[in-house]
Amino acid sequence: MVSIIGAGPVGNYLAAKLAKKGLKVDVYEEHKKIGAPVACTGILTPYIKDLMKIDENYIVNKINETYVYSPDGNQVKIKLKKNYIVDRTLFDSALAKIAKSEGAKYHLGKRLTSLKLGKQHKLKFGKDIFKDSTVVGADGPNTLVGRSAGLFENRKFVAGHQARVKLKEKIDSNVVEFFLDKGNYIGWLVPETNKIARIGVASHKNVNKYFNDLMKRREGKILGWQSGAIPVYDHKANIENNGIYLIGDAATQVKATTYGGIIPGMKAADVLTDVISENKSEGCYQKGVKNTIGKNLWSHLIIRKIMNRFSKEDYNKLIKLCEKKSVKDLIYKYDREYASKLVFKLLINQPKFASFAKCLFRKEII
Ligand SMILES: Cc1cc2nc3c(=O)[nH]c(=O)nc-3n(C[C@H](O)[C@H](O)[C@H](O)COP(=O)(O)OP(=O)(O)OC[C@H]3O[C@@H](n4cnc5c(N)ncnc54)[C@H](O)[C@@H]3O)c2cc1C
Repeated sequence: MVSIIGAGPVGNYLAAKLAKKGLKVDVYEEHKKIGAPVACTGILTPYIKDLMKIDENYIVNKINETYVYSPDGNQVKIKLKKNYIVDRTLFDSALAKIAKSEGAKYHLGKRLTSLKLGKQHKLKFGKDIFKDSTVVGADGPNTLVGRSAGLFENRKFVAGHQARVKLKEKIDSNVVEFFLDKGNYIGWLVPETNKIARIGVASHKNVNKYFNDLMKRREGKILGWQSGAIPVYDHKANIENNGIYLIGDAATQVKATTYGGIIPGMKAADVLTDVISENKSEGCYQKGVKNTIGKNLWSHLIIRKIMNRFSKEDYNKLIKLCEKKSVKDLIYKYDREYASKLVFKLLINQPKFASFAKCLFRKEII
């Protein structure tokens, strides 16, 4: 028996995998509707196809090019392999439908209110009490499961502040725009159509101001907000304790460069499926995650740490280096999903990239 707390993309994907292995799986979700409210841009790199069959029903748009801007407004255009923009409510629901078809049982409108550790862990949902020896916290960045199991530790977060915007002027619906600036700021414009875009910023602080600054570039009418907390990956974090496991945002499994967490969380779910279904001993999940997605998430973290110390000049230098055809070709071929491989190839191609490492000795700008 496995109790999964949270019916986000990672909890649902894990539920499907475990149920397929023949385990009895119960998923508890605090909201009455799966996938709502949305706090996500919904960009999925092509590598999603390695994990699951894509269904056109939840695809809102496909993009194949990015424009990246430095704080001074310098710009580089880079071709990308086809990325998908999904409707998160439909995407999460589609994953839950697969899990249900494999036999997982869903309990919607059930919020975990307390978790007491024991041989059989005691899960409280208001007045209802259940017991289980295997509990998975797929309950997002503020994970109550993690807090209750002593796994929350000293996490860091950035705030993601995003709106769906009806634009005054038409845009190219094949192009996603990224705006880089000091510290851990990153801004984006992700088109749904040539008139509607998801515009947002992520940063430790001043997100409202940064968002308003970004909106000055593209006027439009706000249709709704999709904001939320994004955990910063912590490679030292403990993610298991006596039959309690954390996964996805609850385990900080998010790329620290782009703040994308869906694919890394799903990959961790593949590891956890083997650990639970094969009854592997304590420590195997932690080790398995380290050996699979760990190296890549750590590379994203180091790049983020470097960029958190960038000056305007460093950004301009970066944009200039990315203008080289050989660099553009490598970014196209190796993709941002696998930062470790991409960085390695870029360093061989353009040793000047190595000079950015000296930024690590500067003070972080946050
Ligand atoms: C503004 C923004 C933009 C983003 N853009 C992207 C992007 O483009 N691509 C990408 O890959 N990632 C993106 N992310 C990150 C992505 O949203 C997360 O990494 C992803 O949602 C993690 O999935 P999850 O299943 O681990 O957690 P979540 O999606 O957070 O799901 C957790 C679920 O647990 C439920 N829950 C929480 N507490 C309880 C409780 N006590 N009891 C019961 N249920 C509970 C919640 O209701 C929720 O349904 C973005 C995040 C933000 C904030």
